[in-house]
Parts: sequence; structure tokens; C-alpha cells
Amino acid sequence: MLFRDISPVLADPAAFRVLSDAMAAGLPAGTDAVVAIEARGFILGAAIAYAAGLGLVCVRKPGKLPAVRHRVSYALEYGTATLELPEDTIRGGQRVVIVDDVLATGGTVAATRELVEHAGGVVAGVSVILELAGLKGRARVPGVDVTALLTH
Ligand code: 5GP
Repeated sequence: MLFRDISPVLADPAAFRVLSDAMAAGLPAGTDAVVAIEARGFILGAAIAYAAGLGLVCVRKPGKLPAVRHRVSYALEYGTATLELPEDTIRGGQRVVIVDDVLATGGTVAATRELVEHAGGVVAGVSVILELAGLKGRARVPGVDVTALLTH
């Protein structure tokens, strides 16, 4: 499996600023919060939320949270994964944008959407640096606007 590493982009001050600002500028009008996926999504999500003046909701891998609002398990290429939404983060009716580094098969954003909707939130968009278009991940989040700075 080929893994596309964003570490050099984060380490470059101009690149990190440009991509964070571009992702913040691309948030749909009326976005209430940024939902970031552990772990690389946290880095981008924090920068975007700060730039846009929004709150940040951190969706976590299992076993990290003192209080879990909801938990979703989903299939990976090899095995399964679980994500958890912290208690008291998303309010009913809130419009959120999900942020991560890479969209591959779409299982991770689909699971995150399920977490958001279970808490009464609405996913207004998905924002990633890179979309691996051949894996057709955006088909896993029908009806959601997916924005990628780069498509491979
Ligand atoms: P998916 O669930 O869409 O198949 O995979 C997306 C998740 O796996 C994201 O959280 C992303 O960080 C990680 N991921 C999958 N493939 C890659 C890759 O090639 N590069 C990076 N940086 N992350 C990946």
C-alpha cells in the first residue's frame, strides 16, 4: 500500500499557512464548527478553526475520552477501526465541516458523519488536502460537498 505522507508540507511554514488558509476560506457559509479526525486531521482542523473563528470538535480513536457521546466501528482495507465523539461537543442542528488530511476509501469520513448525525449535527462539507480519487471515497458521503486542495 502506498502511503502519501504530508509531514514535509506541515514542516514548511509557507505551505502549512497557505493550505490552512485555503481550507479555512473554503468552508461553506454558515459553518458552525470544525470536526477533526485523529490524528493528522487535528493539526489541520485546529489551524482552520482558529483562522475561521470556529470551535473544534476532535473525533478520537478508542480509549482516549473520559466521556463518549457515540462510537462507530467501520471496515478498513485490513481489519476494522473505531472512532468516538466526545460528550458535549456537538449541539443539535449545528452545521459542521469534517477535516482530515487524506480522503481514500471514504470509510473514515462516513463513520465521522454518522457520529455527527447521531448527535443531531449536520455535515455541511468535508475538507481534505488530498483526495485519492481512484478509491471513490466521496461516494461514501452522498449529499455532502467534498473539497480537496489536491486530487490524485
Ligand atoms: P479512508 O477511510 O478514506 O480509506 O482513509 C482515510 C484515513 O486514513 C484518513 O484519516 C487518513 O489520514 C488515512 N490515510 C489513508 N491513506 C492515506 C495516505 O495515503 N496518506 C495519509 N497521510 N493518510 C492516509
